[in-house]
Amino acid sequence: MTQVRTRFAPSPTGFLHIGSIHTALFAWLYARQQKGVFILRIEDTDNVRKVEGAVEAIMDDLRWLGLDCDEGPGLGGQHGPYIQSERLPLYKVAAQKLVDCGAAYKCYCSQERLEQLREFQTNNKLPPGYDRRCRNLTDAERAEKEKEGITPVIRFKTPLDGQTTIHDLIWGDVTFKHNTLEDLVLMKSDGFPTYHLANVVDDHDMQITHVIRAEEWMSSGPCHILLYNALGYEVPQFAHLPMMLGKDRAKLGKRHGSTSIGQFREEGYLPETMINFLALMGWSLDDKTEIFSLQDLIKYFTIERVSKTSAVFNHEKLEWLNGVYIRKLTPEEFAKKAMPFLERWLPESVKKPINPVYTGRVLALVQDRARTLKETAALTEYFFVDVYEYNSTDLISKGMDVEKTRQALTIAGERLAKQTPFDAASLEPMLRALAEELGLKAGQLFGSLRTAITGRTATPPLFQMMDVLGKERTLYRIQDAVKRLES
Ligand code: GLU
Repeated sequence: MTQVRTRFAPSPTGFLHIGSIHTALFAWLYARQQKGVFILRIEDTDNVRKVEGAVEAIMDDLRWLGLDCDEGPGLGGQHGPYIQSERLPLYKVAAQKLVDCGAAYKCYCSQERLEQLREFQTNNKLPPGYDRRCRNLTDAERAEKEKEGITPVIRFKTPLDGQTTIHDLIWGDVTFKHNTLEDLVLMKSDGFPTYHLANVVDDHDMQITHVIRAEEWMSSGPCHILLYNALGYEVPQFAHLPMMLGKDRAKLGKRHGSTSIGQFREEGYLPETMINFLALMGWSLDDKTEIFSLQDLIKYFTIERVSKTSAVFNHEKLEWLNGVYIRKLTPEEFAKKAMPFLERWLPESVKKPINPVYTGRVLALVQDRARTLKETAALTEYFFVDVYEYNSTDLISKGMDVEKTRQALTIAGERLAKQTPFDAASLEPMLRALAEELGLKAGQLFGSLRTAITGRTATPPLFQMMDVLGKERTLYRIQDAVKRLES
């Protein structure tokens, strides 16, 4: 049995789209499960769309997600280099080989002519595509063009009759008639190969056994198979993954909000969440299991269970899942991960760096309700700032009035000032007893205290909050609330 080799072949045209990571994950999972090899290859043959720093960013995102590569730029491997712009001679040789054996031809048509052709086709409702004018040039005609100094492109001579079938591991047999295919450009006039040529040459050269990629590349499949055959290469297995759609069932894009993996990272999603979530976009083990670690996925993943149906990106589910993973962290891990988000997102008025011991205690109170790490800033803000906006009427619990509330808070303040130790375990019985003494329901007193201390009506447990805030801050806020009620 040959060893399974899969690859992730992004183009460095910006930040990694969540759809790219989806592809990377599935290719990675298959390699890991088959005890194979996972390769990172950078497809940078489109000079126009290249973005500075994108390769480093891609590698950083993969590292963050835990998708380790066995071969790739800077990682070594026997099939390098792994960046296409460093492999140009290989493509030249392949292109020449195709021209020499008559499977490809030089095309001298200018951009201008191609544009006119396109316009003519559009205006006359004809199918688009190159009209193959240069396909059958005589030697003399070709020599003439060369003499004019025109740098040609190289096009593939797609057979005019017959058909090609992709045996896709997900879609089964998909057949394309050759008369629907174009004579694709393989080599551009700038000396760079197109995606099609470079992709086939590299997948062969890097001994890729399984080409796992997004569905949008399916239509390139027949052309690629014809190229494999023309070059005398063995055709790899193909698996085209289902598309990812937005809620409106349009292809997932910018208008659906965050789409780069980096954006999700900045919002405070955990890598475990992203992996689990993306694995379930188009794959399932059964119809009930929802939580999968990377290790579980390696164990259970099979291409047979990848669906053909496009998966709809559900943001609420992602948030929910992130909450699940946040709760799985130890309080220490959670604090360590959330801390940088607090440093960045707490209001400017908060003195930075924030105290790690105090912040650790604060975070422990919101771990069970945070859905993203970034959200911890909004959830804990009142632990760090004293002046907060709230509506004074929120201080008044059901069945109480301004005066009753003012009295209750005043007495509570006096008692709390005398209270030692000031910890959750002692505060609870003391305040319950006080509520009884004042003839109030516990909820009435606690509600007023909660608003006084936090400015909010929904918070972590009251006594624990007081414990963390400490006596001084708690008293100050209660006195402030009393003042608000007086005015
Ligand atoms: N460079 C292509 C992309 O950006 C790779 C497609 C493939 O995997 O063949 O998605």
